[in-house]
Amino acid sequence: MTFATLGLIEPLQRALETLGYQTPTPVQAQAIPAVLAGRDLMAAAQTGTGKTAAFAVPLLQLLTMEGPKVAANSARALILCPTRELAEQVHASVAEYAQHLPLTTYAVYGGVSINPQMMKLRKGVDILVATPGRLIDLFRQNALKLNQLQTLVLDEADRMLDLGFSEELANIYRMLPKKRQTLLFSATFSDDIRTLAGQMLNDPLSIEVSPRNVAANTVKQWVVPVDKKRKPELFVHLMRKGRWKQVLVFAKTRNGVDALVDKLQGLGINADGIHGDKPQATRQRALDRFKSSDVQILVATDVAARGLDIEDLPLVVNFDLPIVAEDYIHRIGRTGRAGNTGEAISLVCADEVNMLSAIEMLTRQTLTRKMEPDFEPEHRVPDTDASGQVVKKPKKPKKPKTSGGGGKRNLGKWVDSGEVAPAEPSIKPVRKVPVFNTGPRKKK
Ligand code: AMP
Repeated sequence: MTFATLGLIEPLQRALETLGYQTPTPVQAQAIPAVLAGRDLMAAAQTGTGKTAAFAVPLLQLLTMEGPKVAANSARALILCPTRELAEQVHASVAEYAQHLPLTTYAVYGGVSINPQMMKLRKGVDILVATPGRLIDLFRQNALKLNQLQTLVLDEADRMLDLGFSEELANIYRMLPKKRQTLLFSATFSDDIRTLAGQMLNDPLSIEVSPRNVAANTVKQWVVPVDKKRKPELFVHLMRKGRWKQVLVFAKTRNGVDALVDKLQGLGINADGIHGDKPQATRQRALDRFKSSDVQILVATDVAARGLDIEDLPLVVNFDLPIVAEDYIHRIGRTGRAGNTGEAISLVCADEVNMLSAIEMLTRQTLTRKMEPDFEPEHRVPDTDASGQVVKKPKKPKKPKTSGGGGKRNLGKWVDSGEVAPAEPSIKPVRKVPVFNTGPRKKK
């Protein structure tokens, strides 16, 4: 199959060829014809599967072939993204795909001055990429009208709910014309998202390229049990031992990011951090420097790192496990993209056992544990498996000391990921689902 056989026009084929896209990825092969046919879509695809082009390319074609010229302060298509970084990244891809087309594109997000964005919108833009909060601000200040909107794309919709955007989404929904095409994309699909889709989409085509909630199989994953207070030391040890060149590290909190970056920089290691408290320009600069390999270690919170596409990233380290299990899939999806293989290492302390268990249940695998000599935890991480069971061993009575034993090491549990039978996850992250004022929708 080629992009030509999917019915794409020549300027789009040329742009994709320049980018080195030779054949459509599975999600593109399914989504492109459906979007061109005007269908609503709900698509679940693993990160790195080419989902941006799956919605953006046919959308660009529709906007080129159909519909009136964009009016002042209007947009013909809106792509909503959960974070500023993702909005920038999606916009950069859209602009590349649109390079031979007479269409305008622009991205708006918070954390930067709104005035230049208002100026830019005066002439109208064909495709607007936006984060929910800033979009609402622009709408309320009359800088943007949405009555010309043909298509709405929700990218990483599950993440938008996780980040608490449910109310914003409900507000935006009320601002939109009833007659429109809606495309909902997400790396993972929870039941809450399916409910949202039921409210927002009209007779959608459902695309599920990979099994539900399965982590990228191109990523080799393992866990190193360790005491919480020794995590920074273990990280530096593993980094030196493994001669890590470029690592994306996830920490749970903003303070956690800053503390680790300080520690690494103090040791002369080339590290930088991104989190929601940092100004947008600083975040973007850190990301750009990491992408160009000027920064070796980038430490990030989930919010800041969502959806980032970093070419050939070999390694992701979970310095802390994510609170929401689905974030694990997103995090490790930063590596092993576009056919490459990658590694994901999680440093896990006893406090995090329930998170580990939830991740194993969600991804239906028992993560291999590798004990690092001299870092064996004093506070044992209880055994877990994909069934969601946390095995708390009863305390053994102390053995009397014998001479010459040399002291035994706790080698922990070593299980192969193939050992455990698949289990259907029954625990779901708690999430708010927006309640929409759904009147009867007009048929297209
Ligand atoms: P995405 O899932 O949209 O973040 O895309 C992941 C990566 O795959 C990006 O670097 C894209 O440029 C790349 N990509 C997307 N579609 C294709 C394709 N058909 N052939 C080769 N690379 C692609």
